[in-house]
Amino acid sequence: MKNYYQPEIETMPLGQLQALQSERLVKQVKFVYDNVKFYHDKMDAAGVTPEDITGIDDLHKLPFIDKDDLRDQYPYGLLAVPLEDCVRIQSTSGTTGRRVVAFYTQEDIDLWDECCARAIVAAGGTKEDVCHVCYGYGLFTGGSGLNGGSHKVGCLTLPMSSGNTERQLQFMTDLGSTILCCTPSYAANLGEAVNEKGLKDKIKLKAGIFGAEPWTEEMRRDIENSLGIKAYDIYGLTEISGPGVSFECEEQAGMHIQEDHFIAEIIDPKTGEVLPKGEIGELVFTCITKKAFPLLRYRTRDLCRLTRKPCSCGRTHVRMLKPKGRSDDMMIVKGVNVWPSQIETVLFNQGYQANYQIIVDRIGNNDTIEVQVELTPEMAAEASLNVAAKEKKIVSALKSMLGITVNVKVVEPKSIVRSEGKAVRVIDKRHLYQ
Ligand code: ADP
Ligand code: ZN
Repeated sequence: MKNYYQPEIETMPLGQLQALQSERLVKQVKFVYDNVKFYHDKMDAAGVTPEDITGIDDLHKLPFIDKDDLRDQYPYGLLAVPLEDCVRIQSTSGTTGRRVVAFYTQEDIDLWDECCARAIVAAGGTKEDVCHVCYGYGLFTGGSGLNGGSHKVGCLTLPMSSGNTERQLQFMTDLGSTILCCTPSYAANLGEAVNEKGLKDKIKLKAGIFGAEPWTEEMRRDIENSLGIKAYDIYGLTEISGPGVSFECEEQAGMHIQEDHFIAEIIDPKTGEVLPKGEIGELVFTCITKKAFPLLRYRTRDLCRLTRKPCSCGRTHVRMLKPKGRSDDMMIVKGVNVWPSQIETVLFNQGYQANYQIIVDRIGNNDTIEVQVELTPEMAAEASLNVAAKEKKIVSALKSMLGITVNVKVVEPKSIVRSEGKAVRVIDKRHLYQ
């Protein structure tokens, strides 16, 4: 069986890696220019020819593309190979509007599976493992991506898909699942169920590979404790292939971007300027090996920072630090920028768990923001429980974190709907009035 830890690629010296990227980029730009009319026209309009791109230092000359382009070109406008060469489509979850459809040749699927295989190996996976995949299967890329990676590594793969927590727990205990793959919010949900049912000693999980939505370090610790595992972050997006564009190693300090396939840039979301190393900005990807749907300089709207600090695992591929969320996730409330992750951090620091909801509304001309958070069962059982005091404490911590007053409602355990896939943390009712 092939080994999916590939040191010759993953620990390649930077100069060599960049030479490989340059060689692949030059070929890819020509391929895309010749095969996708949309790019051809866009490059012509920007006055760039494929000959102008001689290596990665010329990448900045290419025009960006964004989600609106993908929506405008739906369904076939960005296809770079004949449809008969495609074997699969996947689609975004539609978190932020109309879905986008991506196409794959068999080689594209193999490449994607290989990316997920590397992520599983980095989390300690081997052919001895039982890999329990409860990301959704279907159009969403989570299920099929990790499923494919797990096959490549040779794990016994449990294609559970999401939901039906009872059945998840039964298979997890009966079949001795050792690696869990799902969204962090569903992992938190499973952790809660495992402890409620007293199954912690009966499960054999050692690692979890969680992604597809933003999650905080505080949430990571909570999941690690409740399931008794090491929790690894994994990132990806349908447009660029799916999960596995980047993944964490044992260092758990940022996700290595698979730079032999994807070139990452960080730009100022307002001006489009490439930002100096280490600055936070919008992540942009260029696919240098994909064939059916090879996006060049795709603006992800995800905000994060890149680092080339050497990693103790030996991998040389650049690391992206936990994305702060999508630029669309940021709420402007009472004129102040608010990220759901800031609220999550405050709640975890006060002993709450991932069961919360943020409701933004407008009364007259004034924005209102309310955070509803569940008591943990232990809190609810405290003889001296004082809900008003708990609410006051959260209000005060949020005020110092965000600078605005947030209404807080501490609610009974189990009153907030549990997530089975990507959690919907924010309900913003203001758009109803626009
Ligand atoms: P949609 O854009 O409809 O949600 P996808 O299912 O392709 O479609 O989701 C990709 C997006 O999910 C990414 O652009 C990013 O915002 C988010 N995401 C994926 N993995 C992570 C992660 N590990 N941390 C934070 N956000 C993530
Ligand atoms: Zn590493």
